[in-house]
Amino acid sequence: ARQAGENITHIYNPQLHGKAIDHLRLENELRHAISHGELKVFYQPVVSATDGAIAGSESLVRWQHPERGLLAPCHFIPLAESAGLIHAIDLWIFRESCRQYREWILHGGSASMFISVNISVQSLDISWADQILKAVAEFGIPPESIHLEITESVFAGDIEKIIGLLEQLAGLGISFAIDDFGTGYSCFSYLRRLPASCLKIDKAFIDDIVDHEKARALVRSIIHMAHDLGMNIIAEGIENKEQAAILASLGADYMQGYYFGRPLAAEDCDMSAGRRLPG
Ligand code: C2E
Ligand code: CA
Ligand code: CA
Ligand code: CA
Repeated sequence: ARQAGENITHIYNPQLHGKAIDHLRLENELRHAISHGELKVFYQPVVSATDGAIAGSESLVRWQHPERGLLAPCHFIPLAESAGLIHAIDLWIFRESCRQYREWILHGGSASMFISVNISVQSLDISWADQILKAVAEFGIPPESIHLEITESVFAGDIEKIIGLLEQLAGLGISFAIDDFGTGYSCFSYLRRLPASCLKIDKAFIDDIVDHEKARALVRSIIHMAHDLGMNIIAEGIENKEQAAILASLGADYMQGYYFGRPLAAEDCDMSAGRRLPG
């Protein structure tokens, strides 16, 4: 009886009850945010490892919350994924990125730059592929300029179906990057099967690279493997000159991180062709 009593106390724990309500409120606010233009795209430059020239940019979602201020994705992406809202968010970010990319190209950006957009595994279905292609046509974007970033979590989904979808889009010129490489399932055999042209080495590997030979050895091997598979490497989370120099010497193709530029609102970005970073 005591046990049951404890359970009941647990269920009616006012603090937990409060949490559930917070969660529900946040979910409703997020639905509202999507339809009322409270989401924003921030853009972070990706540079060529050989000369620091801007090669492209990654789109990162932010939520301009009316009371809580600017929220980073960690505060709402997990909720969006569990509440079935991520599909709408990813599509909105994609369309907005296409619109912005067009602006940049029309106003001095390099036509060879790419735009990279994150896609959650839940977003990857047939209607999504159709909507991606529709946006590409609507905004007149060359499919070759589009990179979609997926994580190793795709291996947890219906992998045959996902590979089919990705191959269909890849056949039309869109490229895929495997994000956060080395932090998830790391099922190497799938690397051969996914039509990805780029591997993004996670910041966790970069953090130790200046002080630890083993971290350098690991990154060196990942770069060799990717190149042998015909893939490019983007090193993420580069925060200083020393890290940048090591990654360049190890043969990374592209680099991204606070050292080159933080994610910024479009109005604060300068994506002029030929611009080199750090400025
Ligand atoms: P991610 O795709 O791995 O993005 C890189 C994250 O590292 C971004 O965090 C970026 O601001 C941060 N970052 C970049 N350079 C540095 C650096 O030098 N140092 C440090 N400490 N951090 C750096 P952010 O913007 O908070 O995004 C977090 C994650 O949220 C992203 O990780 C991505 O998984 C997810 N995300 C962001 N936007 C979207 C989106 O539109 N759709 C989906 N599905 N996920 C998104
Ligand atoms: Ca990413
Ligand atoms: Ca990443
Ligand atoms: Ca990540």
